[in-house]
Amino acid sequence: MDSARATLSTGFLPATAVVTGGSRGIGRAIASRLARDGYQIFLTYVSRPDEARATVDGILAAGGQAKAFALNVSDSSAVTDFFAAEIKDRVDLAVLVNNAGITKDSFLVRMKDEDFDKVLSVNLRGAFVCTREAAKIMSRARAGRIVNITSVAGQMGNAGQANYASAKAALLGLTKSCAKELASRNITVNAVSPGFIETDMTAELSAEIRESYTATVPLKRMGTPREVAEAVAFLASDKASYITGQILAVNGGMYC
Ligand code: NAP
Repeated sequence: MDSARATLSTGFLPATAVVTGGSRGIGRAIASRLARDGYQIFLTYVSRPDEARATVDGILAAGGQAKAFALNVSDSSAVTDFFAAEIKDRVDLAVLVNNAGITKDSFLVRMKDEDFDKVLSVNLRGAFVCTREAAKIMSRARAGRIVNITSVAGQMGNAGQANYASAKAALLGLTKSCAKELASRNITVNAVSPGFIETDMTAELSAEIRESYTATVPLKRMGTPREVAEAVAFLASDKASYITGQILAVNGGMYC
């Protein structure tokens, strides 16, 4: 066990990390990495129970503990119910990773209102509601770690992603505001900002676009979910106990 909360857990309730969108991609890597640090993992998914099951099975096979929950983070009342029914007084909520995210790319002049709203409701409001509900529980324990997965698109902007870049930029404001507000409760709030990472999200892009993006990365390759997960594990660990309100970029040098 590498983490303070995993080590300091009273033993009455299992030290638990909630990873939204933990069924595949970056979320799966984060869930698996935090499980190695000794956390029980509660991962959420929305549409692919088979992928969620595979992630849970992988963690169990490696000797960890994990459960999967169907939870659409854009459904605020479902999120509130989840924290009330599954987390409060049932586990020691040590870590929340707001990882669930979607894209609905199109150029500005063609972007529909509903595609703007949908992307904000998952990537931004979902993180806000999960953070609010987690903060109520972590505040009572006077300890906690929250890590938001933002994006280099939120820092640099990206043509065709006005909705996504807006959501991810706003996530930085959420991170910094919550860090200030929750510091007195010994809760740290940080963001990890991946660049161009090999997952289903980027697999949708044409080979031409992938090549043109990779050419802009100083390290000249895409990142892996594991490389993002290592940054999250660091921020969730005791090694990062005096770090809050920060953005840790994992982008191969794209935006410094
Ligand atoms: P991904 O492979 O598309 O996986 C997305 C995950 O989010 C899945 O677990 C999915 O669940 C879940 N999800 C989607 N909508 C949800 C909702 N409404 N409620 C709850 N869960 C939902 O994406 P990824 O590439 O791993 O990205 C993970 C995070 O990193 C996202 O926040 C993304 O914006 C960010 N990011 C990715 C990159 C990149 O290059 N890949 C770069 C920067 C930032 P199901 O399996 O059930 O669909």
